[in-house]
This record gives sequence, structure tokens and C-alpha cells, in this order.
Amino acid sequence: APTTSSGSDPAAASAALFERAAAVIPGGVNSPVRAFRAVGGTPRFVASARGPWLTDVDGRRYVDLLCSWGPMILGHAHPDVLAAVQAAVLDGFSYGTPTEREVLLAEEIVSRVEPVEQVRLVSSGTEATMSAIRLARGFTGRPVVVKFAGHYHGHVDALLASAGSGLATFALPDTPGVTGAAAADTLVVPYNDPDALEAVFREHGDRIACVITEAAAGNMGVVRPQPGFTALLRRLTREHGALLVSDEVMTGFRVSSAGWYGYEGLGLDHAPDLLTFGKVMGGGFPAAAFGGRADVMAHLAPAGPVYQAGTLSGNPIATAAGLATLRGTTPEVYAAVDANAATVRDAASAALTEAGVPHVVNTAGSMFSVFFTELDAVTNYDEARQQDLGAFRAFFHTMLDAGVHLPPSAFEAWFLSASHDEDAIGRILDALPAAARAAA
Ligand code: PLP
Repeated sequence: APTTSSGSDPAAASAALFERAAAVIPGGVNSPVRAFRAVGGTPRFVASARGPWLTDVDGRRYVDLLCSWGPMILGHAHPDVLAAVQAAVLDGFSYGTPTEREVLLAEEIVSRVEPVEQVRLVSSGTEATMSAIRLARGFTGRPVVVKFAGHYHGHVDALLASAGSGLATFALPDTPGVTGAAAADTLVVPYNDPDALEAVFREHGDRIACVITEAAAGNMGVVRPQPGFTALLRRLTREHGALLVSDEVMTGFRVSSAGWYGYEGLGLDHAPDLLTFGKVMGGGFPAAAFGGRADVMAHLAPAGPVYQAGTLSGNPIATAAGLATLRGTTPEVYAAVDANAATVRDAASAALTEAGVPHVVNTAGSMFSVFFTELDAVTNYDEARQQDLGAFRAFFHTMLDAGVHLPPSAFEAWFLSASHDEDAIGRILDALPAAARAAA
């Protein structure tokens, strides 16, 4: 059984902190999904983490299926990463001059992901996608960015846009604060819809700078590209002189050592022109990157005219953590993550089936998510939204009470690490049947 603190409310200390947080931080959190709005209740304030375990301020331990929303593929505070960070800190924190580790990290990325000939380091996935679409626009001299409904690329104005009605529509701002002008050059297309993609290129082809796509979507729950869709994307962008930007912030170095590009295995002929990375490549620190074709990257300042910069870009501590994490992702690590994901995925599905809860499990390599839906398949955002959110809420809280911390939303991937051992996996498997019954 989970270690419980004394008293009747197992989250009393978290609740007290959440109340104080709400007074000084909007909604009490520094990124909205952390607030448990979709599931209700008290977000757990974490005091420490080791391997697959989170310990909260009430002293309760949870098996972590969030993994910081993706980065912690080796588990928390992995000894090699910890040692690298500890050593790096002793040499100072940030210099604003070039360092060797930036070269090593760039070389590591270039050597793993064949289409990446050059790479620029930044500090967040948002910066990576923002910079990539600026570069695509600067390189092509065209204004329009095509994105897919349900894909998330960080909180970039032009990419925080949702579809109006219709097959492929010029975007509407998705949030107050984004002007109509900022969204006006964004076209939103339903995902995995070849006809809509062909139509958008027929109508707007000569104005399209790039298509940006999650390599395999993870932010509406996991929805992988349907067979032939990546190849169609590559063909249409090439025919119309647009760039293909593959957002691998979530998939990069997680689903294989060369990310989704390596996992899907379509080869260089189908390679994107630009790719973006984050999460795993920072090992839990703020490091991200965008890279790709050398002739495109040559347009970046200082060699070229497209401006992009960052005070903390290539930060010494973040690059130390990223390098140690990437060096730690051996074939054995990927095999362990794959096996752990398969075990949990299959057990969740079996428990839900046993309890009579309609569901679909989608996978993209070791990424997966469970949709609480009556549909037979989930291939796009419209389908992803047809979920029984009440069922998810009940499932989530029963798991949490049993000491398993899922992502607090039905539209997220579940993340495992190589550190999820028998003990941690055992707790998940033990918790699933009751959670599934709660969702029924
Ligand atoms: N792109 C994808 C595919 C993501 O999943 C995310 C974050 O979840 C981002 C971009 C934004 O990254 P960050 O949160 O580091 O800004």
C-alpha cells in the first residue's frame, strides 16, 4: 500500500501550498495543465524524485507516469546525469560565450538524426518551433504556416491557433492576447486527412512557407500519422517549394535514438527539412534545439539574415544534463522503455475491457495514451475529443489514491522510463483493476 501521511487528508500539505500559490501565482501553477482543472482536486506538490518515484510534500510516494511530460527517460536523478550536473555546476553557471559542451551536444544530435546537418540550441520547445517557422518563412520568403488541428507546438502566437469550421481554414486566435494578424497566416488542417492537405496546397501552395507537424502527435493524446501520410506531406511540400518541419520535441530521443524519424524509418528521401527537439535532450533542464538542412540553417544569423538568439542558449548546466542523458540512452534503455510501455498499456487495456469500459489505446513507439471513447479508432482531433471525461476523472483519481500519478488530462501521453522497475510496474498493475471499475 502507498505510504500515507497521518490525518484524513492525504494531500493536506499540497492543499495548503496550492492555496498559498494561488495568491501569488495565477491559478497556483506555472503551466496550466498542472492545476488539475480537468480532473479536479489538489495537484501534488513534489518535494523530491528518484528513479520512477515522486515523493510529495505530504510524504506520499507515487509511481510517476508523467516523467516531467517526457524528459525523464532515464528516471529521476539518474546517477550519471546527477554527476554530470554536479561537476558542471562547479565550473560556473552561464558565461555567454561558446563552450565545448555545446559542440558535443550538437555533434551528438547530428550524429543520431541523419537529416540534421546543423543544429542551434535554445532553451525550450516553444523557442525551437518559433525559431523554426521564422527560419522557414525567411528562407522561402513566404508567409503561410500550415499546422494540424490538435497538434501543439508550444505557446507560439502563430501556432496557438485553432480551426474555424471547414476542411482547411485560416486560423482564429485560440486565446486572448493573440491578434487576428498573428494568426492570419496560419492555416489549420485536420490531421491524417490527405484530401484536406491536397486541397490546401492546391489553393495556397505558392504562399506556404512550411507545414509544421508533430512527428507523431502526443498532445491530443497519442495519434500517429496514418500509413502514407508522412510521405504525402513530404511530396506535397517538395512539389510546392515549402519546407517540412517535424516537431520532435516530444518524440525526439524518446521513441528511438533518432526519434520518430528513426522509428518510422522512411529514410532520407522522406526526411523533413527542419526538426525541433526538447524534453529528453535537456534531461530535465531547459535545453531544446532546432536543426536540419545546412543550406536552410545557413540563413540564420550571424551567417545569414534571419535573427535568432538567447542569453541562456546552450547553457553549461543544461548541456551537461542533456549530454549525459543522451549518452545514457543506450539500446538497452530503449528496449526497457518499450517493454515497460507495452506492459502498462496492455494491462490498462485488459483492466478496462474486464470492467466493460469502452476505450482505444493508441501507440507511437513507447508513447501511448488511453482514450475513454466508444469509437473504434482515434485518428484526428475531432475523434480525440469524443471522450468520456468523467470516466477518465474517476480512473485518474483512483490511480492517484493508489499511488500512481498519471497525466492529469485525458488528452496526454503516458510516459515511462527505463527506471520503472518491477516494484513500480507492480504498483501500476495492482492499481489498474479498481481504477477501471471506477471508470465503468
Ligand atoms: N512541441 C511539442 C510537440 C510539445 O509536446 C511541446 C511541449 O509539450 C512543445 C513543442 C513546447 O515545448 P516547451 O514546453 O518546452 O516550450
